[in-house]
Amino acid sequence: MDHDFDQDPLMPAQLQAQLDVLQTKWAEADRMGPIVDEALRQRHQRHLEALKRALAQVESAIGKVREGTYGICDGCGKAISKPDLEHDPSKVLCADCAGHKSLDQG
Ligand SMILES: [Zn+2]
Repeated sequence: MDHDFDQDPLMPAQLQAQLDVLQTKWAEADRMGPIVDEALRQRHQRHLEALKRALAQVESAIGKVREGTYGICDGCGKAISKPDLEHDPSKVLCADCAGHKSLDQG
């Protein structure tokens, strides 16, 4: 398994940019180290969890790029609408399966 995403010619620039941002935030969160304030620690934890989910989603989308199934819904196998993908390039579910209104339809 290779995790070297840096020079992937299949990687959409937007997806790469999003991954870069996430990895930067992740590194920043990591550097924050032990936090004494409990409320802040919990917020930090939630932020990390959100980042982890987002990163997993991006990585899943990258896997799809490699498989040639990028833009295909994980849930129903239909194409994810272009506006939705442009809004969030790491999307792996169509609007229906994600449970919200497509940007397509206003
Ligand atoms: Zn779907």
